Amino acid sequence: MSLLAHSAEDPSPARTPGATHRVTHTAETEDTPVTEPADGRSYLLNNGTARHYRRAVTEGVDRVGARIAATQRPFTGVSVDGLTPTVAGIDLDAPLHDPAAALDELEDVYLRDAVYFHHPRYLAHLNCPVVIPALVGEAVLTAVNSSLDTWDQSAGGTLIERRLIDWTARRIGLGEQADGIFTSGGTQSNLQAMLLARDEACRRELTRDGAPFPKLPTAFEQGIPHGTDRSDVLPRLRILASEVSHFSIQKAATLLGLGAEAVLPVPVDATKRMRTDELAAELERCHRDGLIPMAVVATAGTTDFGSIDPLPEIADLCARHGVWMHVDAAYGCGLLISRRRELLSGIEHADSVTVDYHKSFFQPVSSSALLVRDHTTLRHVTYHADYLNPRRMAEKRIPNQVDKSIQTTRRFDALKLWLTLRTMGADALGGLFDEVIDRAADAWKLLHGDPRFDVVTEPQLSTLVFRYVPGGDPDPQLSDRVNLHAREALFASGDAIVAGTVVDGRHYLKFTLLNPETTLEDIATVLDLIAEHAGTYLAEQPEPALSAR
Ligand SMILES: *Cc1c(COP(=O)(O)O)cnc(C)c1O
Repeated sequence: MSLLAHSAEDPSPARTPGATHRVTHTAETEDTPVTEPADGRSYLLNNGTARHYRRAVTEGVDRVGARIAATQRPFTGVSVDGLTPTVAGIDLDAPLHDPAAALDELEDVYLRDAVYFHHPRYLAHLNCPVVIPALVGEAVLTAVNSSLDTWDQSAGGTLIERRLIDWTARRIGLGEQADGIFTSGGTQSNLQAMLLARDEACRRELTRDGAPFPKLPTAFEQGIPHGTDRSDVLPRLRILASEVSHFSIQKAATLLGLGAEAVLPVPVDATKRMRTDELAAELERCHRDGLIPMAVVATAGTTDFGSIDPLPEIADLCARHGVWMHVDAAYGCGLLISRRRELLSGIEHADSVTVDYHKSFFQPVSSSALLVRDHTTLRHVTYHADYLNPRRMAEKRIPNQVDKSIQTTRRFDALKLWLTLRTMGADALGGLFDEVIDRAADAWKLLHGDPRFDVVTEPQLSTLVFRYVPGGDPDPQLSDRVNLHAREALFASGDAIVAGTVVDGRHYLKFTLLNPETTLEDIATVLDLIAEHAGTYLAEQPEPALSAR
């Protein structure tokens, strides 16, 4: 690549002897006394303030370290009304001019009452404890502050991101033409996947039967020329996703001008996996009704049940019907590095895949990516701006990642994963995910054998959906209220945090296990706490409620 050769031959200005530095005050040395910054400019990070930076960040890190070391519970149980006045009482126009005082204040407004995902009794949502190498990466990427939209704002950052995209695509098995991009999260990855699927469906539809449609001049050319009339196509597009797929698919359909109703829910079996007979029937029905199925979304790890749709069968149906196959592996992507990799068999047939490293790769928020089988499909988000990424740069093969992204300014989130893989390695990371899956299997046995609870399905990944069942023959509404109450009371106690969801119209509780430090004893203790809160609630009910039908 000519670009690389160029930078290797030409030392960068910083390395040129005698280059003048833009910052005018004297560079500090180890002897420079650290004084409190006096004006705005002294807060800017540069060669004169590196000690200030190190001291200030270390002080902040020390506070967090101390807080985490001392945390006894995942949450203090503070209420909205309890915390609101504390935050509202801060006068944002009266700065403290004292980093220590600002951190003291932060203890009150945030650190003391934050929800701590690292705590073994945080069992609620898909939030993982984070690995330390990634936190080092986070500190580095925010200080250097690269923006990954163009080569000229990131250089090596762009190459690192591209290596990690290639690494992930290879783990999935997407083939030699694969590519992708880091995104802010699964929601954005799914949106971009649906955008690519929509525009590919439009392109196919508009080029059918010899319809006039210009050939694509280059890979980075717009897929659908401006002015092409899509009004006949868009209303007929449909997305097929299981009834327990993530709501971001509906949101994407709405943002893409299709409407949430364009997402057709496909029924699931008793284990909450998409029924492929129903999918086949739905595809036939679309065909009969003159509708265009633009994508099938298979979920590899549903948010509530961790169920993995039957990927090989779905891939067959997509191939037969010529439909884009998207796999939403926001949660299940950790299997790519686990000893259970075979659970994702069939994912290699996908046209696009969503992975959330900030869920099952133990990365801090945000870290996600969209991978595609055919890199040319990314042209649907390629727009050239004279000031940023002019066409001639693409022709010179300068890697401008903005050509593949729906964002412009974009974080260098890839660095966190890079340092994680370079420090601890994929196997150690995958081992952490395996541990929580093992724990969930044990917890299922515990729940299954406990008459106080009713558990929905045996987990494939690490969630458990269950509910407390009041003894006797309770009215279903009472069961709902008991479970809602138990969850709220537990949250208010701060002893543990669990999630809730609805199954067949009834309220359930949910454990999402992502912390290998959570023991089976922790889980047993939380079940006892839930039963205790439920029992207290039931004891407070007037007699008729207990016996009502
Ligand atoms: C969490 C999740 C998403 C959304 O991802 P975010 O990173 O929260 O935007 C999408 N799909 C599935 C299956 C998820 O579990």
